[in-house]
Amino acid sequence: MKVLEHVLSPEVERRPLLGRLHQLFAAAGERIYLVGGSVRDLLIQRTVHDFDLATSARPEVTEKLLRRARPDALYALGKRFGTISAVFGDETVEVTTFRSEHYEFGDRHPEVDFRSSIEEDLVRRDLTINSMALDLSTGNLLDPADGVGDLRQHIIRVTGSPRERFTEDPLRLMRVVRFAVQFGFELAPGLADEVRASAPMLEHISRERIRDELNKVLVSEQPGRGLRLLVDLDLARYFCPELLDLKSIETPDEPSTNEAGRMRVPPGVRMKNLFEHVIGVVDNAPSDLVLRLAALFHDIAKPRTFTFNNGEVHFFGHDTIGARMTRKILAELRYDQDTIERVSRLVDLHMRQAANTDEWSERAVRRYVHTVGVETLNPLWGLARADITSSNPRRVRAHLSRLDRLAQRCEDLIAEEGAEKIVSPLNGDELMAMTGRPPGRWIQGVKDHLLDLVLDGDLGRYDKEGAAEEARRFLEEHGDDD
Ligand code: ATP
Ligand code: MG
Repeated sequence: MKVLEHVLSPEVERRPLLGRLHQLFAAAGERIYLVGGSVRDLLIQRTVHDFDLATSARPEVTEKLLRRARPDALYALGKRFGTISAVFGDETVEVTTFRSEHYEFGDRHPEVDFRSSIEEDLVRRDLTINSMALDLSTGNLLDPADGVGDLRQHIIRVTGSPRERFTEDPLRLMRVVRFAVQFGFELAPGLADEVRASAPMLEHISRERIRDELNKVLVSEQPGRGLRLLVDLDLARYFCPELLDLKSIETPDEPSTNEAGRMRVPPGVRMKNLFEHVIGVVDNAPSDLVLRLAALFHDIAKPRTFTFNNGEVHFFGHDTIGARMTRKILAELRYDQDTIERVSRLVDLHMRQAANTDEWSERAVRRYVHTVGVETLNPLWGLARADITSSNPRRVRAHLSRLDRLAQRCEDLIAEEGAEKIVSPLNGDELMAMTGRPPGRWIQGVKDHLLDLVLDGDLGRYDKEGAAEEARRFLEEHGDDD
């Protein structure tokens, strides 16, 4: 990773927005610093879209100066706390008035106080690589904790005493892991033990904040390593203890061999730890939050459903039970309803295409597309592909091409029959009008029957006449079941 030396003037000048802010604030006699993550990201030449700034200007002045820069939008919601935000195209700035007990406007030594207080601000931040400031007026880098050194050496180090900083805000425990996997950095010597020792404090942190850090771990470059750290550093215990149980299960090092979570273990098949398998699936899955969450939870019910009988390992119903567990875990972590639905559905469906799909009849393919839903096919295949973690490359290839053939058949079917959800060709009103019967449970019975016929390919999906005939026949046979 290349770390820029004296940053910054050229870097800042390359970004017209920062140059403009610097000019405006300097002309008004105010100091303005870029702080925290945006300095770090500039130094390693990572794209920055959100700039955090600290300034000597009071909020009213900040607001006035920002307006002069002609933002697309300006938000003064945080004004009471000293923060004004502004949006310029795809860039956002958040400017916070420097707060310090010692500093007041008209103070005899404002500059001295201000300088000392930006340093105070910096050492209150979490990690050394996040504890830098760039003085936009001078181009000087303030780096009291040697964040540049740690950026160069790829080290995650807490600014100050880890124990104290974790006690002040235990979320920093999660942030250690998050930044380690976002950047591929190592933990400073001794830090792992410090995290472990402070882990129980995570109990007191809001689930929302934990969730946000977990999400960043999952969509990072090294999600599997992140999960390993979360479990090994004992953090997972305090927000998702179910993950710990995965370590207690060994499963065959082969893709699953049939539906219903049933698995034969032929003699000589290698076994693989379930936690290792899950890590592999998460690493294989495309970097999309829903898919990575589904990968994380797809086998979550295996420890609970494990049975061993006559040389067969069974995980009966682990998909359905897993979907239920996933809902509960995600709800506790305050995920939004849409994410909960999508992830738990993928968990529920993850075994549907596990085996034998080459032998599926056309009606089986149609039913599969209907059950899964056209919009869920692609994510489900993403998960199914990721779920193949066999160490035998030939087997991996065989399963991947089997999934490709299934996908092709589904796509052909959709091209031919349309992507619209299949429903009964006649609805309740039509059935009542046609038969002169009053509303009742019979309607659902007839509709289910008609839907079955369409799914089996025995009735056209828009064939109302054929459907009417079928409905009459069905009612004659099943008469007055109401
Ligand atoms: P990104 O926004 O890319 O996830 P970031 O470093 O900007 O990374 P934020 O969570 O946006 O992270 O926080 C901005 C800055 O605020 C950090 O760089 C850090 O200096 C400081 N900070 C954020 N959260 C904490 C915390 N819990 N404890 C101490 N300092 C924090
Ligand atoms: Mg940020």
